[in-house]
Amino acid sequence: MTAPGEFDLIDRIRRRVIARDDVVLGIGDDAALLSVPRDGQLVVAMDTLNAGVHFPLDTAPAHIGWKALAVNLSDLAAMGAEPAWCTLSLSLPEADDAWLDAFLDGFGELASLHRVALVGGDTTRGPLSICVTVHGFVEPGLALRRDGARIGDDVWVSGTLGDASGGLASRGIGPVAAPAAVDSDIASVLQRRLDRPMPRIVLGRRLVGVATSCIDVSDGLLADVGHIAKASGVSVHIDVDALPASGQLRAAFGGDDLRRLQASGGDDYELCFTAPASARMDIESIAGDASVSVTRIGTVDSGRGVIAIGDAGDPWSPTRTGFDHFVTPDQR
Ligand code: ADP
Ligand code: MG
Repeated sequence: MTAPGEFDLIDRIRRRVIARDDVVLGIGDDAALLSVPRDGQLVVAMDTLNAGVHFPLDTAPAHIGWKALAVNLSDLAAMGAEPAWCTLSLSLPEADDAWLDAFLDGFGELASLHRVALVGGDTTRGPLSICVTVHGFVEPGLALRRDGARIGDDVWVSGTLGDASGGLASRGIGPVAAPAAVDSDIASVLQRRLDRPMPRIVLGRRLVGVATSCIDVSDGLLADVGHIAKASGVSVHIDVDALPASGQLRAAFGGDDLRRLQASGGDDYELCFTAPASARMDIESIAGDASVSVTRIGTVDSGRGVIAIGDAGDPWSPTRTGFDHFVTPDQR
């Protein structure tokens, strides 16, 4: 049996794509042709996953497929955008159609969930790397940006924090030491959060016109909140003891390790957003509609930077605020 060629691989991909009325011409020509709505702004984001950097080498291909799209959709969610299309650049060490089919299972599952059509891409040989671009729409002028936080706003976060990095830590990778023993059911829940992040698309859409700023938590809460503080020209005060934790994370970690995973672990792809106190009731009901919990974790004030405080009012300083690809461990 001969290995499939580039065009066999592209054909396998093309057969799995969902249809959308606004795709005039999808995979197969030199470029895709798409109908852009007249009454929307186009929102575009791109994220790359490199083997061994963004996912452990032994990650199942279906999880890689899901995650490659999820991290991109999370960026659209953080802008309040409705996803529509994506492109996929695949660098593969070898033409392995079983690997590709499994990858497409995960990718396609999430694409179907949010009705995202894969409209093109590129397939090359090289170290395993996946780059996805997503396109979506938002009402003109209403995108959720990082620069809109106002003094007096509440700071909110969706879901729970630290599960994904707790999953890594349970396997002896990451910012805190692995606990002596983690129950296997608990470890698999945490691992699932790492492998299958759920982009908060519905929540992001509903926060349009309600939140004043928003970011998705990919690199670690304190680091990501720092981007809001900087862009908005304000300081953000985070109550580290108020950060929401899953029961599984609390069962596996405690004390400062728990705080560190939640405050700087990253990879959870929750939304962190600001809104005036007058919007509290609205936000609770939006979260109910979006079937995700939300927690108030801090406030916006004058000044600069991020100030992390414990319940007792004691300042808490993490050894590391989040992930930065170009900072070595000793610089952190
Ligand atoms: P070209 O040589 O004109 O750049 P390619 O041979 O690279 O075209 O690709 C042929 C078609 O297949 C194009 O429509 C391209 O968008 C699509 N395609 C290639 N690789 C992928 C991929 N990994 N995912 C989706 N579409 C792809
Ligand atoms: Mg090409």
